Amino acid sequence: MRDRKRGTVRDLRRENRAAILWSLYLSQARSRHELSAATGLSAASVTNVIRELIDEGIVIETGLAESDGGRPRAMLGMNPGYGYVIGVDIGETRTRVELFDLTMTARAKAEYPLDRAAEHDVDVVVGQIRAGLAAVLADSGVDSSAILGVGIGVPGIIERGPEVLVHGQTYGWDAVPLGRLLRAHTDLPLRFDNGAKTMGQAELWFGAGRGAQNAVVVLIGSGVGASLISGGATYQGATSSAAEFGHVTVAVGGRKCRCGAAGCLEAYAGAEAILERYGRPMAASDQELALAELVGAAEASPAAAAILDEAAGYLGAGIGTLINLFNPERIILGGWAGLLLGARLLPEIRESAKQHSLRHPYAATSIGLGQLGPGAVARGAATLPMETFLNGSGP
Ligand SMILES: [Zn+2]
Repeated sequence: MRDRKRGTVRDLRRENRAAILWSLYLSQARSRHELSAATGLSAASVTNVIRELIDEGIVIETGLAESDGGRPRAMLGMNPGYGYVIGVDIGETRTRVELFDLTMTARAKAEYPLDRAAEHDVDVVVGQIRAGLAAVLADSGVDSSAILGVGIGVPGIIERGPEVLVHGQTYGWDAVPLGRLLRAHTDLPLRFDNGAKTMGQAELWFGAGRGAQNAVVVLIGSGVGASLISGGATYQGATSSAAEFGHVTVAVGGRKCRCGAAGCLEAYAGAEAILERYGRPMAASDQELALAELVGAAEASPAAAAILDEAAGYLGAGIGTLINLFNPERIILGGWAGLLLGARLLPEIRESAKQHSLRHPYAATSIGLGQLGPGAVARGAATLPMETFLNGSGP
């Protein structure tokens, strides 16, 4: 009994710490007073936990702010140098590795375009990640002992069994034991999730999704993915493959998709498919430049404009389905191709979504672009080890 009671007290203390750390991390509160209001903890509890966190070096006082009538309030924040996290984006066109401090300020970045000859080869990608980890540690001057963990966004479905397996059906990865392969090169704690889901988490916490409870974040690159946010958290489904938006059928018997089926949204709105349609099939490593050229050419070229109009129409139809099925308050388009296409086509995409959804849920939805740029997948991946730290830190 005594042990159980002690355990309960310890759990409560950890929960209080976590609530305060989350609030500071997401900048929802900055003074002790605001923390008390944001977390529902008493002023005394907040003072105790903050004293502990300051003693441990996790939280610092960042300055003073005037308060109405009273004495100035100390403003608080995460101590940027207490620890660091690394985010990895295994993309179709490049591998990104980025190191962030505790305030999510980027401190170092390494990017590796895909090797055209060895496209998506597992050993090549693992080698890029290994090189990237070494590069961001060297460039930032951060010792590996200060790294809280590494988050990895993958272009596929994660199977969390005895070992982590990646099923990247369109990436050419079939049950790749990525955890084991990386473990041969690093001792750092590793966390994995689908890249569209890590991008969704980044936009939800720090970008266009802030404050949203129900949203869909759509990632468009060579292919199409999405993250479904329900009740403020990412919806995973039974085996964490939920929201494979790219493989929703938009044309029965339509164009062949990379997944093997016909008529998937990805076969109309993914960059690879758009470039093929334009008569310029490109290796993944060249798609970013080629799509930018296509978008640039659309002003003068009716053929280019027609291809983009078609993509916008199908993408809008897909989004209309999301609106009808999930009644989101926000739909956010991101990914390198999503940002490129959205900058030109957003009005058409909205119009098509309107035509393909019911009036009432459409009126409750906004459709906009992500705010974190093409690096959002890596930033979101870095939040995976950060989550572990915020929830479980402390004695
Ligand atoms: Zn498909």
